[in-house]
Formats: sequence, C-alpha cells, structure tokens
Amino acid sequence: MNREFENKVVVVTGGSRGIGRAIVERFAAQGARVFFTYHQNEAAAAQVAAVGPAVAIKCSQTDAAAIDSAVERVLAEAGAIDVLVNNAGITADTFLMLMPADDWNRVIDTNLNGACRWCKAVTRPMLGARRGVIINIASIAGLVGVMGQTNYAASKGGLLAFTRALAAELGVKGIRVNSVVPGFIETDMSARVPRQIKQKNLEHIVLKRFGKPEEVAAAVTFLASDGASYIMGQSIVVDGGLTATAA
Ligand code: NDP
Repeated sequence: MNREFENKVVVVTGGSRGIGRAIVERFAAQGARVFFTYHQNEAAAAQVAAVGPAVAIKCSQTDAAAIDSAVERVLAEAGAIDVLVNNAGITADTFLMLMPADDWNRVIDTNLNGACRWCKAVTRPMLGARRGVIINIASIAGLVGVMGQTNYAASKGGLLAFTRALAAELGVKGIRVNSVVPGFIETDMSARVPRQIKQKNLEHIVLKRFGKPEEVAAAVTFLASDGASYIMGQSIVVDGGLTATAA
C-alpha cells in the first residue's frame, strides 16, 4: 500500500466496527495519523486502536459539546485535521405507521445531525488551514425507496443533499466535500436485516455478492487523495450494481 497520507491527520466517526474500522485501517496503512470515535463498544475500539494504530475517542454523535472537545483534542495533539469521514450511523427499521417517535429522532439525530455537528466543528480549523477534505458516508437508502427505513432514508437522503450544499459553501475555501454511498455491505448493521430481504437484494446485485467494508474504504481513501482533487459535491456509489439496473 502506498503512503499517500503520510503526515496527514484523519478523523473517522464510528471507527470501532464495520465500515468505519476498515476506513481507519486503510488510512493508517497509508501513513495517516488517525483518530476515530466510537459510542459504547470499548473492547472493539481498543482493538482497532491497537491494530490501526489509531487513537480511539469515546464520543456520541448526538453530543455537540463532546464533538467540540474531540475536535479540540485532535487539534491539540496533532495540530490539524486534514480529513473528516462522517461514518457513524445507526438504523431502527420499522414501518412508519408503527415507528416510535424516539426511533425517528434517534436515527436523524445520529446520522444527519451528528454529521452536521462534526462538519461545523471542523470547518473553522479547515478554513484556517485553507485545506481539508470531508467525506460523508450515506446509503443507497438515500437514493431509492427501501421499505421500513423512512427514518434512515430521510437521514441519508438529507446527508446527500447536505453534502452538495456544503460543497457549494466550502469549495472556494479549498475544502472538498463528497460522499460515498454504500449498498449492502457485510457488517453488524446488515447482519440484522432479515434473511428473505437479504436474499431478495442479492438477486438484484449485478455482482451477485454483498460488499466488504474494505471495498467502501477504498472509495473513501480515493476521494481523500490528490487523485480526486477535482471531484467536488459528488457521490460514489459502492453497491455492486444494485441501483444501476432496473431488474
Ligand atoms: P456498524 O453498526 O457495523 O458500526 C457502526 C459504528 O458507528 C460503530 O463504530 C459504532 O460505535 C458507531 N456509532 C453508532 N452510534 C454512534 C453514536 N451515537 N455516536 C458515535 N458513534 C456511533 O455499521 P456499518 O459499519 O455497517 O455502517 C457504517 C456507516 O455506513 C453507517 O453510516 C451506515 O449507515 C452506512 N451504511 C452501511 C451499510 C451496510 O450495509 N452495512 C449500507 C449503507 C450505508 P460502537 O462500536 O461503540 O457501537
């Protein structure tokens, strides 16, 4: 693996498991100094920190003050934030008619408001440095209708729109903002999806397999690299062709 991110400081939210963990490990392997957040899973976070190597910070997406202190800590220890990856996310699937208000609010607050809090917190130091890259991890649920995921779809569709609007604001200041849109990726989150739904999805995936976290991480490091220097306000879909075909 090349050392593209040597001397760069990268922050990944939700880096203790799944896609976030693969992103942490890929940036670390490419020379970056990586900090990542987690919510509750101390053991998984300690493991990623050791393997990365990376620094684990316990910090909830829903706690604006904790996010501000996490950003201050990274700046104090590393002096800059070159890349922010907004990856942390949750699901709470059910039909809208049966959905408790708390499940709607939790998903929007974690996935959309959380990413917004992080972007707000890193914008000032990135503007000061006149450089930076922000990558938001959305979902194909933000592109196509998925039953039982109105809350999640609203959070991810919102994140895609947010990405474009923020790109319009920050581009002139030298900060690139893009998103990666994963399809069905093998993680704890997708393990909770019922077997029949997984099987149905698999039939529509052109590559006839689910994706691996490392395949999403590869798109993320590409968007953060100099090779993507003219890509702005866009999204890269990593779904094995699931949304590319009609049948
Ligand atoms: P996982 O459930 O495997 O991991 C979620 C990560 O987010 C964990 O590190 C978890 O920390 C962290 N997290 C959860 N809630 C919070 C919170 N309130 N504050 C801070 N961190 C939190 O998820 P995936 O790896 O599958 O998903 C990662 C991202 O990719 C999400 O945004 C998801 O929506 C998106 N995505 C996933 C797809 C898939 O098929 N897996 C498909 C499309 C998009 P902890 O370990 O402490 O719980």
